[in-house]
Amino acid sequence: MIQGDMTSDKSSEAYPVETFCDDCYEAMAPGTEDSPVVQDQGYDPSWGQVCADCGKTEEEELEEQNL
Ligand SMILES: [Zn+2]
Repeated sequence: MIQGDMTSDKSSEAYPVETFCDDCYEAMAPGTEDSPVVQDQGYDPSWGQVCADCGKTEEEELEEQNL
């Protein structure tokens, strides 16, 4: 899992941190001009263990990587 600071319009934070699985992170095309990802912060379990987009858990992600 990878976190990105998102430039979403959530009112509480200018740069909320969300957790995403690898698939969703790749889908956001990090590093491109249109990408909502402004910073890859690496994975910290304290930010949550479920993908904010598709709901995949850290456990499921690890299982996929072990296939
Ligand atoms: Zn996902």
